[in-house]
Amino acid sequence: SPTRFSLIFDAIQAARSGKQNIVEASHKDLLETKRALNALQEEMAETRLLLNEDALTGVLNRRGLDQTLSRELSRAHRNKSKFSLGMLDLDHFKKINDTYGHEAGDQMLVQFASLIKTVLRKSDAVVRYGGEEFTLLLPDTDTRGAYFVLGRLQQLMSRSPLIFEGKEINTTFSAGIAGLRQDENGQDLLRRADEALYIAKNNGRNQIKVAN
Ligand code: GH3
Ligand code: MG
Ligand code: MG
Repeated sequence: SPTRFSLIFDAIQAARSGKQNIVEASHKDLLETKRALNALQEEMAETRLLLNEDALTGVLNRRGLDQTLSRELSRAHRNKSKFSLGMLDLDHFKKINDTYGHEAGDQMLVQFASLIKTVLRKSDAVVRYGGEEFTLLLPDTDTRGAYFVLGRLQQLMSRSPLIFEGKEINTTFSAGIAGLRQDENGQDLLRRADEALYIAKNNGRNQIKVAN
């Protein structure tokens, strides 16, 4: 920084003129460098947070999922506690974009993320897995509990249409739930939830399926 350079410059000047103690100036410079380093570290922490966050909805993104899921699964396996994962996908979302425009679609995604958060516990995590697909991590929750939570979300959705340019836009979601098995890894758990979601879609959408 210019400040740091000017301090070094001052120190050199002081040494030349012999008027000021060079040790004192070097010490000042060191403090300044430390301060700059601290600021840089803080900035990096903020950036890391942003990298794990989805810019549109503010929930975790795919990168955030990898970290959080592996941490939560280690914990669940260690404590032999229940853990459920939900995979949610908005139904016929393309049609909302086509009918009302991309901006309406974006607002729908923001509202969906916010509705999800209202039914979850503090210890749960929400991830935007892809475009209109969200993953829910539910520690200390069995599949029955997860089914109950998603049922509440379904009800909440049905009475919370998006208001866009004065129009009410309704939508539904389909979901697959998988309960963590003994020694199961994140990849397999995600795959089972995804398969259950696929069945929910094929069965006509707007429904929740639990994986075997
Ligand atoms: P399905 O019920 O089978 O899930 O049908 P769908 O239309 O929801 O699924 P499809 O995969 O065909 O389309 C997903 C759409 O989501 C297409 C894509 O343009 C839209 N989409 C993805 N990300 C965004 C986004 O960030 N904003 C908006 N507005 N749309 C998005
Ligand atoms: Mg969809
Ligand atoms: Mg999809």
